Order: sequence, then C-alpha cells, then structure tokens
Amino acid sequence: MSDQAVTTITTDKVNLLDFDRQGLRDFFAQLGEKPYRAEQVMKWIYHRLEDNFENMTDVGKALRAKLEASCYVGPPKTLFDKGAADGTHKWLLGMDGGNAIEAVYIPEPTRGTLCVSSQVGCGLNCQFCSTATQGFNRNLSTAEVIGQMWVAAKYLGNVTHQNRRITNVVMMGMGEPLLNFDNVVKAMSLMRDDLGFGLASKRVTLSTAGLVPMIDKLSETIDVSLAVSLHAANDELRTELVPLNKRYPIAELMASCQRWLDRKPRTSITFEYTLMKGVNDQPEHARQLIKLMRRMPTCKVNLIPFNPFPGTRFERSDAETIRAFQTQLLNANVLTMLRRTRGDDIDAACGQLKGQVLDRTRRQAEFRKRLDEGASHAA
Ligand code: SAH
Repeated sequence: MSDQAVTTITTDKVNLLDFDRQGLRDFFAQLGEKPYRAEQVMKWIYHRLEDNFENMTDVGKALRAKLEASCYVGPPKTLFDKGAADGTHKWLLGMDGGNAIEAVYIPEPTRGTLCVSSQVGCGLNCQFCSTATQGFNRNLSTAEVIGQMWVAAKYLGNVTHQNRRITNVVMMGMGEPLLNFDNVVKAMSLMRDDLGFGLASKRVTLSTAGLVPMIDKLSETIDVSLAVSLHAANDELRTELVPLNKRYPIAELMASCQRWLDRKPRTSITFEYTLMKGVNDQPEHARQLIKLMRRMPTCKVNLIPFNPFPGTRFERSDAETIRAFQTQLLNANVLTMLRRTRGDDIDAACGQLKGQVLDRTRRQAEFRKRLDEGASHAA
C-alpha cells in the first residue's frame, strides 16, 4: 500500500489529540453525547496516557464503539530515540511523507523540562541555528505538538497530578511557535488544562524570535510564560543574527514586551542571549544589554553558550568570557542565569535539533552547497 493510501484511511477518522477541551466537547456533542463524556475520555488520554478506547473501562460499550468508528488517539510515531549520558533524552518523531521533528527531555534535580517543536523546519533563517539550515516544510498540527508531550510522558511514566516527570514545557524546539499560532495555543491549553497535563502558567513557556503582533495576540489569548530570543541589544547586529529584526526592530519588540508586562503585572519575561565568540560577547554588548534591561527590572536574561553544528561560521564564547559577561550583568543588577549545555553528546542541545525536513524553500540546498564548497576548499 502506498503512503498516500495509508494517509487517506487515517484521515477519514478524527484525531482526538487535535482538540482542546472545548473542541472535544463540541465533537462529542456532534456524536450526540454529553459534554462530561468528553472530559472522561480526556482524562484517559492525558492522565492515563491511554490510546485504546477498549481500555477506557468507565466509558460505556456503545460509546466506545462510536468512538472506534469515528476517531482515534494518534500520537506521532517514534522513529528513533536516544538517551544522553546526563539523562537528557531525545525523540525523533515521524510526521507525514518523510518529515520528522525532534523533542528533548532535560531532567534536573528539581524539575524535568520538555523542549517541544512547533514546525517542520523554520523559515526565519536565524544565522546561528541549525534548524534554519534545513529550510521550512510546514506547521505542525495541534496533535503533532501535544503528541510530542504525550509520547515523552508515556515513555517517562509521567502521571499528571501525581508523579510528574515533565514539570515544565518550553516551546524551544524546531520552528517559530508564533507563526503556528492557533495550533500551538490549542496544544498549550492542553498542557495547562487540569484534564490535560495540568501545568501552571509559569511552567509552560513560549519562546519567540520576536514576532511583535503575535506577542500581543498571545497575551490576550492564553496564560503562559514568554521568552524572547534577543541575542543582541543593537539593531545592526540583531538584524544580522535574527533577520526578523529588520521587520520588528528592538524598540518595537521591547514595546510589545512592555505591553505584555502591563497586561500581566506579576509576570516576568526571559530574554535569551546565545553567546558567540567575538560576535556578541564583548563588554560593550553587555553594556547595551544592561541599558535595555534597565527598563524591565522584573525580567531576566538567560545566557546560552552557543552550540556548534556542522557548517556553522560561529563558535562558542570562552568560559572566561561567558563568566565575565554574566558578572557584568549581575553587577548591574540584571537577573542573569547561565544555561548549562545539556545533551550535546546526542545533538540535543539548543539549536542542534534537526529532524528531517523536506524543504519547500531552497535553503537546505544552498546550505549543502556552501558546506560542500567549504569541504573542497579545505581538502
Ligand atoms: N523560534 C523560537 C524557538 C526556537 S529556538 C525562538 O527563536 O525563540 C530556541 C532557543 O535556542 C532560541 O533562543 C534560539 O535562539 C536558541 N538557539 C538557536 N540556535 C542555537 C545554537 N546553535 N546554540 C545555542 N542556542 C541556540
């Protein structure tokens, strides 16, 4: 049977992972069922991680048969998974037609963080990110976003409200989550929902390269935490590193962050800053960052040592430079954390996620060509 035929058969039925609580209630109403039945099934799916209707023992036989005929619980397929020496775990999850994305679990003494992807590839072309070299294929569906958490939770033996292995989720995998707004918001509402994974708003974080209008929209739509990938505090450098800055320069980005804080007075925003040797790690860069952060005293800076990947022109800053940069910020009373690099022995660190992208842009081909040229120069 061809792939095409398989897809046709499965799409006849509805994937319940595509619905948030309201969507599920509406779907059950269409089936002629009471809304509380939807909630009962939701608990089976997200609390007990059950994907087989037959095992949902408190759901009547007639309803189980109805569900069997009309829908399914369809998490993405694990093509490959691997653990790192430090306990980090990475999943390569198969999507349609040969695409694949990655999700990563990072255990720490007091928490376990799952890093989730939002798109197959990414169109933003941030110069220091390996996902960018792969180009872009498509947005993930809600089921494909929440399904990453479902697969990881099942593997880790996560029990919602009891034995939480995943205490935090960050939308920091492949893709720009705000360019897949509706599906990402629905998936995050399942992460937050008590009948879903039941995580507090502080523990679900969306990270964006700075899509200003969508930051505003997000603040009006759902209660989650915000991280902004800054990487430079002057427009010239930031535009070079994050081309989206040309469209939404720093002043506009910071204004939208200020509006976020005005709407959510007791929250903070994390500004991510990837440190690249000789590029954005000098004392003058720290000074520019301090100046920017002065207007946001409740916010914090998360320094990320650059993670290299084949073909990149950037290097990680020296440990000493990183320490000096952090000290300069701390001395100016900017709350600054240094993110430890985790899982880099399995290419699971920030910016190393690649998956498999059937590129619809020409970016992957261009990058490969550059790589080949580089290799032949070196030979
Ligand atoms: N598009 C979103 C989410 C994906 S990137 C965003 O830009 O925020 C998640 C984080 O990893 C971002 O802060 C990104 O800048 C950082 N990152 C990307 N490539 C990296 C690399 N090679 N080394 C370290 N951090 C990287």
